[in-house]
Amino acid sequence: MTIDIITIFPDFFLPFIETSMIRKARMHGFVTINIHNLRDYSTNKHHKVDDTPYGGGAGMVMTYQPFKDAIDHLRRTDTKVIFMSPQGQVFSQKTANTLALSAHIILLCGHYEGIDARVLDLVDAELSIGDYVLTGGEIPAMVVADAIIRLVPGVLHEDSAADDSLQNGLLKYPQYTKPETIDGKPVPEVLLSGNHQEIAKWRMIESVKATLNKRPDLLDKGTFDEDIHKLIKALKDDLQDTK
Ligand code: SAM
Repeated sequence: MTIDIITIFPDFFLPFIETSMIRKARMHGFVTINIHNLRDYSTNKHHKVDDTPYGGGAGMVMTYQPFKDAIDHLRRTDTKVIFMSPQGQVFSQKTANTLALSAHIILLCGHYEGIDARVLDLVDAELSIGDYVLTGGEIPAMVVADAIIRLVPGVLHEDSAADDSLQNGLLKYPQYTKPETIDGKPVPEVLLSGNHQEIAKWRMIESVKATLNKRPDLLDKGTFDEDIHKLIKALKDDLQDTK
């Protein structure tokens, strides 16, 4: 997979691509990340990439030309061009899974008051990382790239992503590590039992419980198999009985 990121702040991305799992994924050839300075594509002699808004108003708007030339230069037949925008569809684990199958993604980072609306004719999707407005698209682009890259087969240990929160529509079960008891709080006994079947069962129940407690909305959105449906119903009934 190749991810091309177009930004006016390329330095923002240096620690991101040089650290931890993203660095490893690049080093092992699972992903190529290219950071492009939008200004390099500007035909303006001062490499200007913004101008005042037609109709007046505060702030500057990013111009069409540098985005158009950058996209034309980088686009292949299998490219998905995504503009990071608070007006986009809210990014989710589901979208991350779909995008992880892409061969080539271009992420466009806006800044200032945003971009000339005609740039949107050049993009396949607008993605938001949540209902709030950030200064620029750089952090959103890192969020999206990180979520996608960790799903590329081979990047994580087998099963590690499959077990993650939201991957199967539920939150992950609680986890514990050494010591066995701390501040009078022991690790649940089943986790010390060595009985893998019982551990898997406990984890499934705890996963549904965590979702029910913290994000009950997910239970209405997800598609679950019969066993999980039964579990959800039983735990919901228990909850009703204790009220
Ligand atoms: N004036 C714009 C509006 O009201 O829609 C917001 C511009 S914002 C200050 C500058 C840039 O940051 C946007 O063009 C976009 O690229 C990025 N951005 C801000 N919030 C974002 C979010 N929640 N998700 C994705 N990108 C965001």
